[in-house]
Amino acid sequence: MNATTEPLPDTMPGVRLPGDSTAVLDTLPVPEPGPGQVLLRVGASGICGSDIGFIYHEHKTHRGVDGPAYRGVVAGHEPSGTVVQAGPGCRRFGAGDRVIVYHIAGCGLCDNCRRGFMISCTDPSRAAYGWQRDGGHARYLLADESTCVPLPDELSFVDGALIACGFGTAYEGLRRISVNGDGDLLVVGLGPVGLAAGMIGRGMGAARVIGVEPSQVRRDWAAGLGVFDALASPEEAAETVGRATGGRGAATVIDCSGSRPGRSLALENAAEWGRVSLVGEGGTLETEVSDTLLHKQLTLYASWVTSLPAMAELAQNLVRWGLSPERVVSDRFALADADEAYRLAAGGSRGKVVLVDGDRS
Ligand SMILES: [Zn+2]
Ligand SMILES: [Zn+2]
Repeated sequence: MNATTEPLPDTMPGVRLPGDSTAVLDTLPVPEPGPGQVLLRVGASGICGSDIGFIYHEHKTHRGVDGPAYRGVVAGHEPSGTVVQAGPGCRRFGAGDRVIVYHIAGCGLCDNCRRGFMISCTDPSRAAYGWQRDGGHARYLLADESTCVPLPDELSFVDGALIACGFGTAYEGLRRISVNGDGDLLVVGLGPVGLAAGMIGRGMGAARVIGVEPSQVRRDWAAGLGVFDALASPEEAAETVGRATGGRGAATVIDCSGSRPGRSLALENAAEWGRVSLVGEGGTLETEVSDTLLHKQLTLYASWVTSLPAMAELAQNLVRWGLSPERVVSDRFALADADEAYRLAAGGSRGKVVLVDGDRS
């Protein structure tokens, strides 16, 4: 197909993370799409907690000692944009199509890849955008066509960038516990993924959505979204959940805190026959078993990111629900100000921080 919508420059700005708590702007060649690849003009690219925790301050492996580490590439695994050039053999996307990029390209042939869970591919060819291959913190991004899903016209590029990681992760966790109007949803930890869980939980029809978060600043930011029926600090959680649920506890609970106390709080405030999803990375889980788990007949789900089809489904659902993910964004920066953006994200921003390309957000 090889169509082009705009004359392309030879070079572009792109951001790398050397691992010393800085973000460095480089000038890089604009890549050309090979077979099955598309070149995107990036519309927006999110900054993720994992970028901060595993790349920005220090390069660490993401999956234990043998896991793949950052390879000095253009950072950013949460991109969305417009196809400006399609390489030979592309069959679904062409110039002018708006897309969201799933943040990992897998081998395409293992069972997990065939399920759309490229995150769980263990083939040596697996490469995450912004970790092992160039990511979205640049003007242009070379993406495998197989990692792209359509970005509906009703959603912005910032919406797309958010779906690419945090919203996808929250959605998958909530699908596992079948959130619906028969019960209430408790969200523990209101960082970007927790805010996403609150918003999507509202869309999925949870009777009441309750949020727990230690930071007052983040609770205030969450309150402004208008999707939480009640917000509490961890100390107030039991009383707030009790009051909101008529003493039953929450039928569905998602932990987005990734902390041991957060996970304990999630389990303790689940209702009898409740369903609890864990999506927060890192740390440990410690729980009393009899009263907290067995006697309450709890079901526990562990969920890692999401699949390509679920990401596409979420984009469609957000349009149906009339919900705009970009409302969780507290700060936007141009690519040229990436260093400042990372400093803010690492210092504990109120909401999500994204890089946008000029007026294309
Ligand atoms: Zn992410
Ligand atoms: Zn695979």
